[in-house]
Amino acid sequence: MGGPQTEARRPFDGRLAFRHLERQVQFGPRVPNTAGHRDCRDYLVETLRPLAQRVERQDFTYPLGGDSLQMSNIVARWTGQRSLPGVLLCAHWDTRPTADYERDPARRRTPIPGANDGASGVAVLLEVARLLKSSPPTAPVMIVFFDGEDYGPGLDRMFLGARYFADHLPADVPRRGVLLDMIGDKNLRIPQEANSRAAAPTVMKEVYAIAARLGYGSQFPARTGPAIEDDHIPLHGKGLQVIDLIDFDYGPGHNWWHTLQDTPDKCSPNSLKAVGDVVLEWVRGRR
Ligand SMILES: [Zn+2]
Repeated sequence: MGGPQTEARRPFDGRLAFRHLERQVQFGPRVPNTAGHRDCRDYLVETLRPLAQRVERQDFTYPLGGDSLQMSNIVARWTGQRSLPGVLLCAHWDTRPTADYERDPARRRTPIPGANDGASGVAVLLEVARLLKSSPPTAPVMIVFFDGEDYGPGLDRMFLGARYFADHLPADVPRRGVLLDMIGDKNLRIPQEANSRAAAPTVMKEVYAIAARLGYGSQFPARTGPAIEDDHIPLHGKGLQVIDLIDFDYGPGHNWWHTLQDTPDKCSPNSLKAVGDVVLEWVRGRR
């Protein structure tokens, strides 16, 4: 066993996932109240509709000054066997309206392309959705794409979709899950995010054991990474055990994060496949 044979049995197609990443970036920045945001939202719903048993938009507005932001979480379900504990898979689909870490101050008000920070996690889950259609899961699966994760500029105005979702939890929400964020980096290293280790130690152990078994130990090093504020925090507040798979070290000296450098050429189909293989194996193991 092992080597190329094992590899060939894993159906996750990194190139198909990468096309979903490129497609999202082609819509332009996915900033609420812009055409790129609406176009991408429709693309995500239309892509999921034939793949899932049920697809819903959870629309909400966020008041901002005298105006309001129109936002949508997108929720897709595969029923599975109701007697089994389900899994929640999530990622944010919006992108940062400001390139806060651009060196040139004049460019900091420009929205980022969000290839890694936004599109990568969604891309993996769209390919996972294709495979859940072709081979339906035994356990229930819920995929949620959160809006408004990166609105900002401060933490008080971030994770807007995840907060809304946490405050309006569907009765059938799975108690255990995985959040994907910034997992497209060519040089992929996803340490065990510290908040996730504390709130969801069992999920963490399961996922990293799978990664090691599949030969992805270098991409999923078994060491504790920095504590990151992300969409999993509002979910932890509701008792959900969700880990954040995030490579928060993007580019030399982390200097592509929240800049105009966050483009598809910094990302890789191989990285999407590593994450996709691990997530899919974890989903398939729920029986
Ligand atoms: Zn971000």
